[in-house]
Formats: sequence, C-alpha cells, structure tokens
Amino acid sequence: MSDIIQLLPDSVANQIAAGEVIQRPASVVKELVENALDAGATEITINLKDAGKTLIQISDNGCGMSPTDARMAFERHATSKIRSANDLFCIRTMGFRGEALASIAAIADVELRTKRAADELGTLIHIIGSEVKTQEPAGVNNGTNFKIKNLFFNVPARRKFLKANTTELKHIIWEIQRIALPNPDIKLTLHHDGNVLYDLPATNSRKRIVDVFGKSLNQSLVGVDEDTSIVKIKGFIGQPKYARKTMGEQFFFVNGRYMRHPYFHKAIMKAFEQLVPHGAYPSYFLFLDLDAAAIDINVHPTKTEIKFENERDIWPIIHAAVRESLGKHNVVPSIDFDQSGSIDIPMPKRSGEEIRFPDIQINPDYNPFDTDKSSMGGSYSSGSSTPKEKKNLDNWEDLYEGAQLKIKPKEQYRESFKSETDLYAQATDQFSGKKVLQLKQRYILTPVKSGLMVIDQKRAHERILFEKFMEVLKSDSVASQQQLFPQTIELNPADSALLKTILEDLLSLGFDIREFGKDTFIINGTPGVLDVASPELIVERLLEEYKNSPVDAHAKAKEQIANSLAKASALDYGMDLKQEEVDHLIDNLFACSTPNFSPDGKKVLTIIPTEDIEKSFAK
Ligand code: ADP
Ligand code: MG
Repeated sequence: MSDIIQLLPDSVANQIAAGEVIQRPASVVKELVENALDAGATEITINLKDAGKTLIQISDNGCGMSPTDARMAFERHATSKIRSANDLFCIRTMGFRGEALASIAAIADVELRTKRAADELGTLIHIIGSEVKTQEPAGVNNGTNFKIKNLFFNVPARRKFLKANTTELKHIIWEIQRIALPNPDIKLTLHHDGNVLYDLPATNSRKRIVDVFGKSLNQSLVGVDEDTSIVKIKGFIGQPKYARKTMGEQFFFVNGRYMRHPYFHKAIMKAFEQLVPHGAYPSYFLFLDLDAAAIDINVHPTKTEIKFENERDIWPIIHAAVRESLGKHNVVPSIDFDQSGSIDIPMPKRSGEEIRFPDIQINPDYNPFDTDKSSMGGSYSSGSSTPKEKKNLDNWEDLYEGAQLKIKPKEQYRESFKSETDLYAQATDQFSGKKVLQLKQRYILTPVKSGLMVIDQKRAHERILFEKFMEVLKSDSVASQQQLFPQTIELNPADSALLKTILEDLLSLGFDIREFGKDTFIINGTPGVLDVASPELIVERLLEEYKNSPVDAHAKAKEQIANSLAKASALDYGMDLKQEEVDHLIDNLFACSTPNFSPDGKKVLTIIPTEDIEKSFAK
C-alpha cells in the first residue's frame, strides 16, 4: 500500500492558520493597524463598509515596502521583525509571528499599494484567496495602503458566523480603542459607511483618553505614576465617585500592548474596595512598562494574554500605586501616606523571596458617597447602598441580623431543597399577598404556604419590565410618553455610533430620540411603560448595559435591547420601597409568564422551607 501522509499546500495551511488569527473583521483591523504602528507610521486612516464585511481599508504613512518585500510579506512565517529564536525574548514590536498577512490573503480579496520614501515607484499587489492576480509597479503614495474586500468569501461557515453589523462594529471599536490609548502620539481616523467615528489627533495620554471616551471623563481622571526596578506604572484611574457614571472603561497595557489580566485586575479592584458602590465599576487606564525579557507574549495567537516572570512581585506594586493615587487625591483621606514622596516598595533580594505588603491603613467605614448622594439624580440612583452594606450582603447570615433572625448558611438550604424547581413552580400559587417586608433595601420577604419566600427586588423588576417591553414589541401600538422639556444628550463617538444602530429598535419600544448634530441626540419621549425621571441617564445606562451584554447568537436584536433596557431602568438595590410599591412589585411579578427567573436567567426568588426554620429552633 502506498504512503498516505502529505504536506498541506500553503493555501490550505494558511486558511487553517487564518481560523486562529482572523476571527472577524475586527481581527483584520487589529493586525493591519499593528503593522502600521510597527512600520513607524504617525498617521493611520481606517475606512470601513458594512462593519468591515464588505471593505476594510487601512492606510499609513509608515516606512513602506520594497517590491520584493511586498510579495514576501504574504508568505507564511514571513516577518521583518525577528531573525532568531533569541529575538522572541525581547519583543518590542506588535507583530512578529509573520502570520497575519498570509492568513488574511487566504480568506479575502486583498489589494496592497506600498512605496518607500526613497523609491521612485511603488508596488501594487492583488491577491484573492492566496492566489496572486497582479503584481506591478505603480505610482502610489509613500507608506502602505491595504484594501481587504469580501472577508471569508471562501469560508462560508465563517462568513455565516459573522454577527450583525452593530456587533461587528462594536468589536472593531474595541480594537481601535485598545490601540489608540497606548499610542496617543499617532493620529488615528476611523470612518464607517461615510461617517467619521473617530478623528483622534496626536496628543498626550490624558487627552487621548478623553478624546476616545468623551469630555465627561476628564474631571474624573487621577494620575498614577510609579517607578520601581521591576516595573514602571503610568496612567490614570477614574475617581470612585464617578464610577457609577462611566462604568466598564477598564484597560490594562503592557509595553504598549492591550491585555487581559484577571490577577492584576484584582489588584486594582482591591485598591478600590469599599470606595465604589455595589454594581459600579471604576475606570482605569494603566500602562505597565517592563523589561521585554521578563514577559512572554508568545502564549496566545492574538497575543492578548501575556505570561509574567514575576507576577507575584508586581501585584502589590500595582495595588499600592493605585492606592497611593487615591490617597494623594484625597479620595481615601485616612490612608497614611507621605504626601511628598512615593511609597517605598521593598524589592525582593533573591527571586522567590516573599515581598512585604506596603503598610496602608484604611478606614473601612469611610464613605465617599455621603456627600454625593444626589449626583445620579432621578429615581434610578444606585448609589445609596453603602460600602459597609455591600460587605454585609456577601454574607448570608448577616442579612438577617436586622430582622433578629439567625438562620443557616445558604449552601445548607440548597441541600435541603428536594427540588428547587418544584418549589419555584409552587411559589406562584402559594403567594397570598400579605405581610411583606423589605430587607436591607434589597430583598422582599413574604410568608408562603411552605415557608418564607425571599425575592430579589432588582431581578424581579427586571423580569417585569422585560415582559412589558416584549409585549410592546409584539403589539402594533407603541405608547410613548412625551417629555415636557426635550433633553439633549451628547455622547462619545463610539456610543453615538452604537445608539444610531439601535435607534430604530428604540423607537419601537416607545423612545422618541432623534439625531441632532454630530454625536448629539434629542430625547423627545420615553416608553410609556416607564416612569422616567431622567431620560438622559436611562439612555446612558442602556448603552452601557447593551455594550456589556454578552453576545447571544440566538437572541434577536430587539430582545437583547429590551433586556438591556429592563436592566437599565429597573429599580436598584439600596432603594427603600413603600408598602404599596412592594405590593405592586409582587403583584406584577406574579403576573409575569416566567416570574422565577430574570431575563438573564438568574434566580428571582427562593423559598426557605418552614421545616428548616423549625429545625433551627430544635434545641
Ligand atoms: P508580522 O507583523 O508578524 O511580522 P505580518 O504578516 O503582519 O507579520 O506582516 C509581514 C511583514 O510585512 C511585516 O513583518 C512587515 O515587514 C511587512 N509589513 C506588513 N504591513 C506593513 C506596513 N503597513 N508597512 C510596512 N511593512 C509592512
Ligand atoms: Mg503583523
């Protein structure tokens, strides 16, 4: 029998590799913009059609390529950035694997125009699905210009997998943000279907953050600057009191590269602990700079995960640096810092030696929100749950302190439930509508036949609103409540682009919002089912929820928007409810078709069985 193993042709190998490197239009944008940065460009322009599905055009004023290099660039493992395995340990460029262009050319229609400043003529190369159609000298500008058309034209499964334009554009905007923030000295422009989404001039780091996320962030930013022998940390954090307004802007960069790092994220969150209220996220933009030999970027094909040689030493430095900034800016008045100098971080003498935690005293009862309760306005404030309460809420037993009850930990209840779902099913019938108590501004307690029912007030309200919105979407008549005084809202370019794409769906939910100049909108009306005190805030929170909602391939866009709107407008924890309000909430909850779960599938209610209460009095 003949041998059966063969080497895959390059075009097939490239297509397979493309699956790893290029997942969606945003991956192409990322790779090409990174190449432009590596080429020393100071100006990069990105032009998209159909969220990149039809066209991605990227031009730069970087070093350009020779005719031979231009052709070579599309070969697999072709790179000008490393020469030997040793170079892998001191990478300072964004790319080095030599895979991106080969991958992109395997699954799209690619035109490259490029010229070095010293050359008279440039080069034009046209490749479709790894096949070179044209290579010829051409009169082109200095620098490089890529046109990528019909992404995944020959991988139908991939093309089908692409999400709605809104979603794909969201991913592209995220990639641009991750490149724009650590490179403020590069001018960046992003056009989509003829609209300018970003026009970012070369500037400093702080101004760049503000240009990307909007002017309202400016007053919130506090500098971080720490210089140790292992790592330099620069950047900005958002003051805790603004955490509620601009949540979710959390960025970590290492040697100019965006990355996710849950362990270091915890160091920052720990520094903010007890300073931000439940459910709010402080912003941070931290830029770490360290010896390239101390990190390994090569662990992941898209390089968003990085391995550190000395993670454990860096953690306390990050934590202390953030803590120090909060202290210096009087956000944490009781921190015991020397205001003039920077903190003294003991360096381990030998590697492996335990590092001593900087000695910081914090007053756990300090509540920076005491003076700032009104800043959210309206009836949608989430701010009144104090940090102290937040701590208590994590502890099941403590929940009952106020009610003079002492009961078993949650886990034990779980075990004693024969079948939770059975109990939930019964709950609807059992509720008898009497004696209702609100606990810790978070739970509603009421006796039912089989015991004590505990309802999560926020999730309950989310469920109620979600079903109301779904009804509105199904019915033909949309009730909108006109605002007496229409409000204008100014958004940052990314949010403005997002709002534009969901504007029509919002109309069918009862919003009356119109574009009113660049990135400005006018809100004339809000959904009739909502009692909106501050329409502008609802729209901001809606965008925030929508941006952060996980992409669910099966959910229809409208459903996802209804879900986000329910979350954005539901009453929050920390709100005192009047007796009628509690009754009303419970009536409405049990009128729902699925009262037991929030639209996200989280538990709305639980029942503590009478027998368990009895057992706890057995002795
Ligand atoms: P890598 O970036 O990992 O080296 P790529 O496939 O992204 O691999 O690019 C291959 C090579 O093509 C690069 O190493 C670089 O020499 C060249 N190149 C790509 N894009 C540009 C550009 N915009 N300007 C100049 N040279 C470029
Ligand atoms: Mg590259």
